[in-house]
Amino acid sequence: MGIVFNIQKCSIHDGPGIRTLVFLKGCPLKCTWCSNPESQGTTPEIASFHKRCIGCRACQKNCPERAIVQDGPLFRIDASLCSNCLKCAELCYADSKQVVGKEMTTTEVMAEVVKDRTFYKHSGGGVTFSMGSILLPASSSVSGPGRSTRSRPSMMSWRPSIRR
Ligand code: SF4
Ligand code: SF4
Repeated sequence: MGIVFNIQKCSIHDGPGIRTLVFLKGCPLKCTWCSNPESQGTTPEIASFHKRCIGCRACQKNCPERAIVQDGPLFRIDASLCSNCLKCAELCYADSKQVVGKEMTTTEVMAEVVKDRTFYKHSGGGVTFSMGSILLPASSSVSGPGRSTRSRPSMMSWRPSIRR
């Protein structure tokens, strides 16, 4: 079980062959140059895509914590008030507020990964687990078949067994 930030198919830069990248949410390193800072937290959370906002105010009117403040055309979340209930993403018709991170079981992740088994077979590829959560305690890690990802470097990879 883990919080998956993204599953990216057909990657050719993160290990041998054609690979599927499984980005896990939650990173204890929090580097200032991180290209995906929205992946650092350990739980699903709201990301705001302000360009998509149509100004309907549904998020602001329905936020139970009154955590959404208008700043000109922007509807910003005051992190000090937000309880992370995720309700604003449910209500945002324009997808301007979105939930980042989804809890997935190992079986669910693998069901997605094995869809590209033909590409792994012909290219010598596989799957790469990325981001930092494999450095976190076992409760938030995703383990591969027969191999735990616990206590391993922040990026590791393994090839799923492929029936030929
Ligand atoms: S609900 Fe979405 S579209 Fe409406 S004001 Fe809020 S962020 Fe903008
Ligand atoms: S996640 Fe919940 S508390 Fe936070 S801004 Fe959205 S609706 Fe308000």
